[in-house]
Amino acid sequence: MNAQARSQAPDWAAVRRDFPLLERRVHGKPLIYLDSANTGQKPAAVIEATDDFYRRHNANVSRAVHALGTEATDAYEGARRKLAAFLGVRADELVLCSGTTFAINLVAYSWALPRLKPGDAIVVSRMEHHANIVPWQLVAERTGATIRVAEITPDGELDIDALYRALTPEVKLLALAHVSNVLGTVNPVREICREARRRGIVTVIDGSQAAPHRPLDIAAIGCDFYAITGHKMCGPTGTGALWARREHLAAMPPFLGGGEMIREVSFDGTVFNDGPHKFEAGTPNIAGFVGLGAAVDYLSALGMEHVEAREQALLAHATEALSVIDGVRVFGAAREKAAVLSFLIDGAHAHDLATLLDLEGVAIRSGQHCAHPLLQWFGVAATCRASFAFYNTHEEIDRFIAALVKVRRLLG
Ligand code: PLP
Repeated sequence: MNAQARSQAPDWAAVRRDFPLLERRVHGKPLIYLDSANTGQKPAAVIEATDDFYRRHNANVSRAVHALGTEATDAYEGARRKLAAFLGVRADELVLCSGTTFAINLVAYSWALPRLKPGDAIVVSRMEHHANIVPWQLVAERTGATIRVAEITPDGELDIDALYRALTPEVKLLALAHVSNVLGTVNPVREICREARRRGIVTVIDGSQAAPHRPLDIAAIGCDFYAITGHKMCGPTGTGALWARREHLAAMPPFLGGGEMIREVSFDGTVFNDGPHKFEAGTPNIAGFVGLGAAVDYLSALGMEHVEAREQALLAHATEALSVIDGVRVFGAAREKAAVLSFLIDGAHAHDLATLLDLEGVAIRSGQHCAHPLLQWFGVAATCRASFAFYNTHEEIDRFIAALVKVRRLLG
């Protein structure tokens, strides 16, 4: 789609019809899928691209000279180029991997482990997903470095002054979510990365919840590493990427050894491949990346600025509708927020609410959302989380709220 076509908002009713799964009924009711922060649904174009790869082009990448091998390699490298353009980075700085969890572990094992030592510190924020906490704890345990926590305000925003005070000369690395998966808080990563860089601190940004929902220009953020996961952005599971500054990729040792990541192997020593390929040992999820390439095409054709505006409208509608329910407590009231609503209702357990909502066809998540330290801070054992995507509708939100009122009454 050309730029002029993109300047018009898509026909959202037509967009929704691109998602076959959303036609489903669950427990006899039309499905209302409000769990896109967990994983996103897939448009037919993504399902068909993956299917077409297996039906017509399946071969391994970077190995065979036959036609199928060339097609598979072109498709895989084409997906890398599409994803790089979508993210605003160079393709030769983009490591393809299974998702954010892998991407952050790659930085932890390959960048942090060989560099950190006793006396060094790593700063992580209170609102991180476990994928951006546990790898740093493992690094700290093995290197003698310590972890410092950047705290949040009651509204669920980062306490920026406290964060900057915590960035003392011992700090070597700052790991931070671009967007919180529980609170929806959008962190001012550009400003924070600038401050960190002035202090010589390397930044790792977890973009899992940002890439699916807003236009991204990673180069403009000024971080050192940026991780994304494909399944939250209309792509297949088991796909994702780590963007890293070129100098880091060159200096980092490989994380996993095997085929594809080498240029030459002998028993006298091995010469590793360059750039991202050095970190892509073994046969990758080729069909998955073909699907992710189609997802990127799909999102680009919608226009991420339209996706963001649509989701903000859904969030505003849901926030207002939820606020009229007696005894509701919403977690996270950041000034800039993605389309995620974490909440509790007095006297009702989160799992009971989610279970009864499921019987009404409404899929939300309940629990700790892989963010135990954040929920501990709020002093709650679990929350309900409704998360919205551009393919949801205002009518679905009304039905979700009506179902919530009904199940709440059932719970007394
Ligand atoms: N970081 C955040 C903020 C997330 O929301 C998630 C997924 O829920 C992850 C990391 C982990 O992503 P994945 O399981 O795809 O590696």
